[in-house]
Amino acid sequence: MIHEILPVGPLQCNCSILGDQTSHEAIVVDPGDDIPRIMALLARHSLTVKQIVITHAHIDHIAGAHRLKQLTGAPVLYNQNDIPLVRMMAEQATWLGIATPTVEAPDDTLDEGKIISITGLTGSILHTPGHTEGSVCLYLPDQNLLLAGDTLFAGSVGRTDLPGGNMRKLLTSIHERLLSLPDEITVIPGHGASTTIGAERSSNQFLQDI
Ligand SMILES: [Zn+2]
Repeated sequence: MIHEILPVGPLQCNCSILGDQTSHEAIVVDPGDDIPRIMALLARHSLTVKQIVITHAHIDHIAGAHRLKQLTGAPVLYNQNDIPLVRMMAEQATWLGIATPTVEAPDDTLDEGKIISITGLTGSILHTPGHTEGSVCLYLPDQNLLLAGDTLFAGSVGRTDLPGGNMRKLLTSIHERLLSLPDEITVIPGHGASTTIGAERSSNQFLQDI
């Protein structure tokens, strides 16, 4: 598998490019900004984007999705429970002091258990509400990989003080959906350093109390 992680935009959202080196098909996760850099990396690996997966509809994760769809023809997928956040995109833009991006309704919703696949690569969606109602993680068991969005970070958890956030739901999602995964799974959070399920299970202070 080809896996490029590039922090994009002012909040350095971790955009992932997941590609299969035989079929040259790709999934792009959270193209929040810097679409020219993403397009250049796709070209360097001769990859064709088949799916654009958004872990949640915060502006730093979704703002470039429409542009990437225009350039590649790939569908934009996110959970329908985040549509209220899409309707607040102008307000979200004022948080960052940037122009309001075009964000459309999803081409398909990312419900629990939905399979995301390209030729040579398969993942499934875990619905993990808490950071937002529509937050999801993309789990690729054959690659021992979890793209966690802003649900779980190295040594921390997602903030819940933004609209749609709920700490009780967040901790329930992490304990029931993520800590049930094997220790060796590599976790790529929505921002910052990568980690593993085992490391977070044993040392993340936010997960020790319940
Ligand atoms: Zn977020």
